Amino acid sequence: MALASMFPRPATALEVVSRFHNMNAISSFIVNVAPTRVRSWHKKLCPSQAKADEETAAKAAARTTDKSSPTIFDKIVKKEIPATIVYEDEKVLAFRDINPQAPVHVVLIPKDRDGLTQLSKSDPRHKDILGHLLYSVKVIADQEGLTDGYRVVINDGPNGCQSVYHLHLHILGGRQLKWPPG
Ligand code: AMP
Repeated sequence: MALASMFPRPATALEVVSRFHNMNAISSFIVNVAPTRVRSWHKKLCPSQAKADEETAAKAAARTTDKSSPTIFDKIVKKEIPATIVYEDEKVLAFRDINPQAPVHVVLIPKDRDGLTQLSKSDPRHKDILGHLLYSVKVIADQEGLTDGYRVVINDGPNGCQSVYHLHLHILGGRQLKWPPG
């Protein structure tokens, strides 16, 4: 993998070395600089540290994200970046999560964000699309063969560990899921 594709912004050798002086620095580097694929390796190698990092990243996203600018999901809708699309109609789009937490992990979004940065920002005009999203979950779960059950998750805000501010539903299945969640 080319270094340029691993690091979204130019990182000098000095910057990389100076950030790697202890484990916390490595973690913070991974969360703040490295892209999703590197974060997924990190999660496999040190799960508890990665969990803490997810929380840090979610809090940072809540603080720093300009909620009015397009997100990575808008780029997927416009087909500007690739995704494995599993379902699409005129209102919603579903694609495989790049960092799956279960054998089946699908992300379902409204194509037009229309102010729905997160569920807690919804208002009465969103009732139709919210219902459409929930019924689409059932259609996708059937399509994915999740006959023994599945879980639907909406992370909301920093305490919910939301990292992308375009409303989305996680559909997780294909294994026995645990309860309570973390
Ligand atoms: P959340 O943490 O609830 O905001 O979820 C955002 C989800 O989007 C995470 O599970 C990410 O792995 C996923 N994600 C981020 N970028 C992409 C992408 N380019 N393609 C597919 N899934 C993505």
